[in-house]
Amino acid sequence: MPELPEVETVRAGLAKYVTGKKITSAQAFHPRAVKPSSIAPITSLAGSRIKSVQRRGKFLWLTLDRPYALVAHLGMSGQLLVTPTTTSPHKHMRARFMLSGGLSRSNNEIRFVDQRTFGWVGVEEYAGDVPISVAHIALDPFEKEFDLAKVINRIRKRKSAIKPTLLNQEIISGIGNIYADEALWRAKIHPEIVCEDLSKAEVKRLINCAIDVMQEAILAGGTSFDEQYKNVNGESGYFERSLAVYGQEGEPCPRCGSAIARIAFANRSSHFCQRCQR
Ligand SMILES: [Zn+2]
Repeated sequence: MPELPEVETVRAGLAKYVTGKKITSAQAFHPRAVKPSSIAPITSLAGSRIKSVQRRGKFLWLTLDRPYALVAHLGMSGQLLVTPTTTSPHKHMRARFMLSGGLSRSNNEIRFVDQRTFGWVGVEEYAGDVPISVAHIALDPFEKEFDLAKVINRIRKRKSAIKPTLLNQEIISGIGNIYADEALWRAKIHPEIVCEDLSKAEVKRLINCAIDVMQEAILAGGTSFDEQYKNVNGESGYFERSLAVYGQEGEPCPRCGSAIARIAFANRSSHFCQRCQR
């Protein structure tokens, strides 16, 4: 599932190729491709110009010369590919946006490809600076206004375990299962420890580890663990080579050598080192 580093890689790729282009037509091919709360069919975007490509957490949106935005969420397996219009249609293509103008004239189409159909696109009005569906999620740690002290305090008040809290997009956005496991390992914190039992210094170290691991993953073009995630050019990221614990059950911990364990917890798997993370 794409997390912040993968969505940021897609955002940067879209920004490079489609900023300044005009959407000449748009089509959807699957009933689940367009979010039910979309205020208009995507065909209505024809004639609008793309001003910028923004992101918060795992949400992406294109700002347009209109009072609404084109919002996208990649779900489990969504891809936003930038291609020449002449490329033959992709399997699992759920929507397409034809473009004209801009600097990169050969790449005149955005294709939304999604095998598992948990992703979506939609037309949304703004609530303040962000589209409506983005307004309910917390800032991600790469945003200028991200307030580390405030997030530490919120986490330390909770009676739930730290792992699901890190995944709670209303507390801190952008972190999913892969980067939560990696951050907890780096910070030497057990995934099931209750938040209010962690010190301020421990939570601070954990968030800083999450920021570091996601920054490194962005530089590697993201993690293509299940081969579903691709950048806008259809290429995989290569951060999975650097994963210490996620998907490494039974492999030696890179720090102490003991076998990495996997537990099923809160409907997800957690990978961790039983010796380093107590
Ligand atoms: Zn270890």
